[in-house]
Amino acid sequence: MKYLQGYPLNLQQQVRGLIEQERLGEYLARRYASTHQIKSDKALYAYVTDLKQAYLRSAPAIDKVLYDNRLDLTHRALGLHTAVSRVQGGKLKAKKEIRVAALFKDAAPEFLQMIVVHELAHLKESDHNKAFYKLCEHMLPGYHQLEFDLRVYLTWRELPGMAEVSLSEIAASR
Ligand SMILES: [Zn+2]
Repeated sequence: MKYLQGYPLNLQQQVRGLIEQERLGEYLARRYASTHQIKSDKALYAYVTDLKQAYLRSAPAIDKVLYDNRLDLTHRALGLHTAVSRVQGGKLKAKKEIRVAALFKDAAPEFLQMIVVHELAHLKESDHNKAFYKLCEHMLPGYHQLEFDLRVYLTWRELPGMAEVSLSEIAASR
């Protein structure tokens, strides 16, 4: 339950129960079986900047957005926002980057949106504090449920044999 450690025990136990009954995939497939077309870094950049324009127009511009298959999920880094300082024309300039774990390329649109909203909110709030989550909920109503379900999804993917299965396959076979 490494992805669910911050949640109440009874919720973790419900997830454990679904795993034992082999019904966790079914739970997820009911809601998150669809896919999206944001497959390239270019498409991801457009998606991120559209969301930023809608909700965080005054936040600093983002220089680079990309899918990264080296993000280490075990350190809970589903996405990453960095400000890389570079000397440009004799001035120090901070380049804002957002990296999204490559697994979201093939995940449900809801999960991609959740992680992008999370990283965008970090443009304003660096910590996971109340203001941070309020901003997330503002950009994406139901954010808390989605973050929980995303963590359930990550838990499910690491169950034996599930790395090769997709939720849309499970939905189709029901
Ligand atoms: Zn964060």
